[in-house]
Amino acid sequence: MAKQDDLFKNVVSHAKEYGFIFPSSEIYDGLSAVYDYAQNGVELKKNIREYWWKSMVQMHENIVGIDAAIFMHPTTWKASGHVDAFNDPLIDNKDSKRRYRADVLIEDYAEKLNQKAQKEIDKARERFGDAFDEAQFVATNARVIEYRSRQREILERMARSLETENLADVKALIEELEIACPESGSKNWTEVRQFNLMFGTKLGASADSAMDLYLRPETAQGIFVNFLNVQKTGRMKIPFGIAQTGKAFRNEIVARQFIFRMREFEQMEMQFFVRPGEEMKYYEYWKETRLKWHLSLGLGKENYRFHDHEKLAHYANAAADIEFNFPFGFKELEGIHSRTDFDLKAHESHSGKKLQYFDNETNSSYVPYVVETSVGLDRMFLAVFSKALREETLEDGSTRTVLKLPSVLAPTKAAVLPLVKKDGLPEVARNIIDDLKWDFNVSYDEKDAVGRRYRRQDALGTPFCITVDHQTLEDQTVTIRHRDSMKQDRVKISELRGIISEEVSMRNWLMKM
Ligand code: ATP
Repeated sequence: MAKQDDLFKNVVSHAKEYGFIFPSSEIYDGLSAVYDYAQNGVELKKNIREYWWKSMVQMHENIVGIDAAIFMHPTTWKASGHVDAFNDPLIDNKDSKRRYRADVLIEDYAEKLNQKAQKEIDKARERFGDAFDEAQFVATNARVIEYRSRQREILERMARSLETENLADVKALIEELEIACPESGSKNWTEVRQFNLMFGTKLGASADSAMDLYLRPETAQGIFVNFLNVQKTGRMKIPFGIAQTGKAFRNEIVARQFIFRMREFEQMEMQFFVRPGEEMKYYEYWKETRLKWHLSLGLGKENYRFHDHEKLAHYANAAADIEFNFPFGFKELEGIHSRTDFDLKAHESHSGKKLQYFDNETNSSYVPYVVETSVGLDRMFLAVFSKALREETLEDGSTRTVLKLPSVLAPTKAAVLPLVKKDGLPEVARNIIDDLKWDFNVSYDEKDAVGRRYRRQDALGTPFCITVDHQTLEDQTVTIRHRDSMKQDRVKISELRGIISEEVSMRNWLMKM
């Protein structure tokens, strides 16, 4: 655990020191759970967004994008259930005065049981070696069966209590499990209460005429209210999707863990409209397709897992998370939800407008069903950044800090370094930049010895360093150094664009899907 804590601390401090993420309004001591993306962070974030957009919109003939406003008519949030039904169950610890989400406390407890079961499995694997049959072991080992069934019982009971709004039972469960405040160890809890997490604001000049508004807590509703506009003007035929990236706002109670849980964050969502009855087919399709997208970045298959929901939101008939192994354990990175026709039907009844699709093939009109994929851009950033950050010991015993970002996402693709600041080398370096900058984000660095400059670029995640030396003046060649292998090749200046492009092009990365 201590090791994980250290890793997480390194992630936060590296992000700040190398210009990726700053606390918001830091000169005023920051604002809780709000962060700013700095000069390198904004590039990485933009590249992740583009990687998503390309794979969803550009690569699918039947998916188009929109960019809806953050402000929406307030009735939107009545229809979606955010005003009345979308509340988080909260509990306070009377001794530490810390506030928690009751469901998260219980889920964390259940996860510990899961980890115990996993430990038994790992131990057995070690003992039996190649002969180990995991499925058989899981089905027959008494301890694993006990841990797993206990975990299931707890989660099912919580789901039932939340669904029926039996908050007293949620509290009873916390007491029965003897869950203690993670901070103080105290078990002195208040009742569980519901808390609405939308930020309210006002539209209009005078107090009398002002209209109460909310900052959108999810981007999805901007897609639902535009469903028919897009379908008609884009002449879209079911099944089709609408994608959107943008800010969402939630007044999160437990807003810790850096950019994992923020109050202002960005989502990348796609709503896929399908014929009623076909939703499960597309739900499975999108689960698989979205996992493939994550895997294409090469952060390691073992760092992802699906978590099927026991507790379904009021709008869903199936839901799963893609969880990622963050520095603080496996947590939700993306949600895939089969949202039925809940949202469109609700908007029909609140607006009085028909939101139906006429299907030529079946010769009938209906409200489509929706399968949603929803991934947090900031959580993607944290996933990529935390897995990329490494401390490496080199052959000569020295260490280097390197950010092994998937090169397609790296903020800067190449740094051009004149060996010395004279003899015309800076001019040649500038010429190389002037040529490459049309295609790639490139930077120039002439300060310090070349070794130190390499280290600086390693820490920024730059995949290539191009060094201009005296030989360059004679034969138009440079050395190109690869971040991960640290291998150096002598190549012609005219070959640079091709080499970089081969390594960083989205085409090559997305083709791995
Ligand atoms: P959680 O259970 O962690 O609160 P959620 O289930 O409420 O998340 P969704 O409503 O499904 O999340 O939102 C979709 C995605 O948006 C999540 O998978 C996550 O990546 C991202 N997300 C949600 N809330 C936040 C937040 N406060 N900060 C950053 N990203 C978030």
